[in-house]
Amino acid sequence: MTIENFNFKGHKALVRVDFNVPLDENGNITDDTRIRGALPTLKKILNDGGALIIMSHMGKPKGKVNPKLSLKQIVPAVSKALGVPVEFAPDAAEAFDAAKALMPGQVLLIENLRFHPEEEGKPVGIDKADPAYDAAKKEMKERQKVFAKTLASYADVYVNDAFGTAHRKHASTAVVADYFDKDHKMLGYLMEKEVTAVDNILSDIKRPFTAIMGGSKVSTKIGIIENLMDKVDNLILCGGMTYTFAKAMGGNVGNSICELDKLDLALDIMRKAKEKGVNLVLGTDCVAADAFSNDAHTQVCSVMDIPEGWEGLDAGPETRKLFAETIKPSKTILWNGPAGVFEFDNFTAGSRAIADAIVEATANGAFSLVGGGDSVACINKFGLADKVSYVSTGGGALLEAIEGKVLPGIAAIKG
Ligand code: AMP
Repeated sequence: MTIENFNFKGHKALVRVDFNVPLDENGNITDDTRIRGALPTLKKILNDGGALIIMSHMGKPKGKVNPKLSLKQIVPAVSKALGVPVEFAPDAAEAFDAAKALMPGQVLLIENLRFHPEEEGKPVGIDKADPAYDAAKKEMKERQKVFAKTLASYADVYVNDAFGTAHRKHASTAVVADYFDKDHKMLGYLMEKEVTAVDNILSDIKRPFTAIMGGSKVSTKIGIIENLMDKVDNLILCGGMTYTFAKAMGGNVGNSICELDKLDLALDIMRKAKEKGVNLVLGTDCVAADAFSNDAHTQVCSVMDIPEGWEGLDAGPETRKLFAETIKPSKTILWNGPAGVFEFDNFTAGSRAIADAIVEATANGAFSLVGGGDSVACINKFGLADKVSYVSTGGGALLEAIEGKVLPGIAAIKG
């Protein structure tokens, strides 16, 4: 079933969204992108004459109630965005009566799902090495089913619009779908858009295809890097992982972030790129700082020769030019992970050069996908989000989808 084809009139829809929005210390939302992202789905249901039961996680409360991560804090924002009052159910497992009382056009937001360990289905307080772990895990999986069944009892239709958690087999993202038949479960609009964007990258590839992978470490990106090697023409590796490569090639990287146990892996990536005819582009120079601070002293130096006590925090001018020249003629572009510590205003130039080049390529007809929490924050910081083809809400989910993995949240609906 597709959301467009379903008429929600008289139905109660249980909608899994990703309202894991960043909050400041006073509980104010600092970026409401995720709430806005879910609005087309939520409004379609209300406009059809359906009732809404909205569920989400927030942060990582690890199965325990944590008032700082209560979704109660976002009730006013959700209400404002939807233009209707929003009821709140303070316990996700005890919302049956509140859901039952809902009339068409009414909205119920239920409390952070992850206050219940059953949501993630992982046993808490027991180490994986403990002999009792397997039994605890089995028991928790059973409890997860019960929790999912409880959630399912609130509604007669299930909609998953939370792409950010689609790579997790959680109660609300996957298990719950078992309690609805195929005509009463569907992906939301946002999820459909994400899936189409990934399809665009993976199927109809217009060349040259350039992937830009940045961020802090090579170890967390290795799966996607290896996978991309079979698909891309150009692979730009930037950000903190630059220094693991530089070190592996015999460079001095000073205090730069460097994974010493991944030097062989870095050389292996370089070898594979050569074998596969992929143009691997690494930074040559960097902006080094004498402290991990926005106000640190800086100097431009070769990534192979960073003085003791200094650390590379951004791409240097030569590197920025190299990256931009690689990106501009591309016809398909994927960007995940910043080229420097973009959170510090003085170290945004590398990421900015990448963003500008992507914007230019997109204006010239390229399909560009920017995804992963930090790249999205980056493109938003530069105010360029509407100048690329698609900004994904998914971090891990996006990367797993591009790696070609089947996402449990999507499989649970599409089979
Ligand atoms: P990740 O979560 O692995 O995608 O990494 C994102 C983080 O990498 C951002 O918070 C950046 O500040 C950080 N980062 C990027 N370049 C560097 C660098 N040269 N040194 C340290 N951190 C970096």
